[in-house]
Amino acid sequence: MSKQKRWKSCVSENLLMMMTVGGVLAGVVLGFALKNGKDWSKREIMYIQFPGDLFLRMLKSLILPLILSSIVSAIGSLDLSLSGRIGRRSIYYYATTTVCAVILGMILVTTIRPGLHGHGLEADASKAPKRSITTIDTLLDLVRNIFPPNLVQACIAQYRTELTPPANATNETSKYDYDISSSYGDGTNTLGLVVFGIILGITVGKMGEQGKPLLDFFNALSEAMMIITNWVIWLSPVGVTFLVAAQILDIKEFGSVVQSLGLYFLTVLLGLILHGFGTLSIIFFVCTRELPFRAIGKMSQVMVTAFGTASSSATLPITLQCMDSMGVDSRISRFVVPIGATINMDGTALYEAVAAIFIAQVRHIDLSISDLIGISITATAASIGAAGIPQAGLVTMVMVLNTVGLPDKDVTLILAVDWLLDRFRTTVNVMCDALAAIIVEKMSKGELDNADAVEGLQEATELAHLRKVDD
Ligand code: ASP
Repeated sequence: MSKQKRWKSCVSENLLMMMTVGGVLAGVVLGFALKNGKDWSKREIMYIQFPGDLFLRMLKSLILPLILSSIVSAIGSLDLSLSGRIGRRSIYYYATTTVCAVILGMILVTTIRPGLHGHGLEADASKAPKRSITTIDTLLDLVRNIFPPNLVQACIAQYRTELTPPANATNETSKYDYDISSSYGDGTNTLGLVVFGIILGITVGKMGEQGKPLLDFFNALSEAMMIITNWVIWLSPVGVTFLVAAQILDIKEFGSVVQSLGLYFLTVLLGLILHGFGTLSIIFFVCTRELPFRAIGKMSQVMVTAFGTASSSATLPITLQCMDSMGVDSRISRFVVPIGATINMDGTALYEAVAAIFIAQVRHIDLSISDLIGISITATAASIGAAGIPQAGLVTMVMVLNTVGLPDKDVTLILAVDWLLDRFRTTVNVMCDALAAIIVEKMSKGELDNADAVEGLQEATELAHLRKVDD
């Protein structure tokens, strides 16, 4: 191929990705140009964000049908022992990467000690989460949501424990003595739907011929969602431009933030970079004997969308589309990636650990080894429990803070830079899920080929049998 042709094919292959990166840059330029010292009202920001909002809404509409159909069709078309092995591999990978992320975050924050520079930071109780909840209730809610009692309801709401102070409560009353009740809210119960999808996939696979129509239905639904994704994806350059621009218009108090939260910001960012390009690369190399940088390059579209939307759920359709275009076996990607987008959030886990220890440093609280162990366990749980939506990690942070006796309102100390960190940690979250599909595919290649060969043989035998009967 001539140099010119090669250049042309390279440009056309990467056109969308370059346009989306351009979209982020255009958003930054547009945001700062419009801002220009002016304070924009919420309504004005809403107008600027409108095109981006439409793009997000389109992506979000695909999530529910895509998650369920992908998981059922992927697991249903594998035999039980193979899907069991693939499932185990993904869970081992997700658990390992999350634990590595938490440990890395803790090492960085305890050596850099950004909290010693957090002078003048004040918690703003008016911006603190209104819901008061204990760590144990949060964990129990997570487990309850794995088993939704009503699937239709799970599509729109999840279970939450509510604690209300009794009439005679004082400031000293512990949350454990509050009145307890339950409610449903907070958006889709993705975890419950993922678990249901896994069970349904296993069942359909076991049913054989009888389950075939149902499997065909989910296969077709997942293909249809991917076709729509292929259309929506072309809107990403415009969508991210306006999402990023609106976010920049919303920034307040930049100068003071750089002083007190700058080092904290850099600690999280350094952790995310080291985890994304260091730890994940080493794990990728150990599992596949290949360097991941080519794969990461091909995933740029996914990473830019994650950065632009700050939501791993909204990025899911694009991640699956990217896996298809990279030639990853769809039985693996549609199984591994939706599960990862729901429970595996390395960037969030790292950030939760850094943020909790940073706040303890600001408050001059000395943490013992058992506090650090407590933080690492709750940071992992908080990352599993966080939804794949913007700033979900900030909400589940309360649980990590409570383990070291810090009040809920202290999450507001890091609020000012959270919007930007959220975008970086979402990028790492999504990158880790996509790498998981490639690793698990490489590790399961032999078994998948065997399964295909056995299936081919069975089909050939059946055909030969039918011909014999016809003769
Ligand atoms: N925005 C993140 C995600 O969607 C979650 C978080 O850390 O807030 O992956």
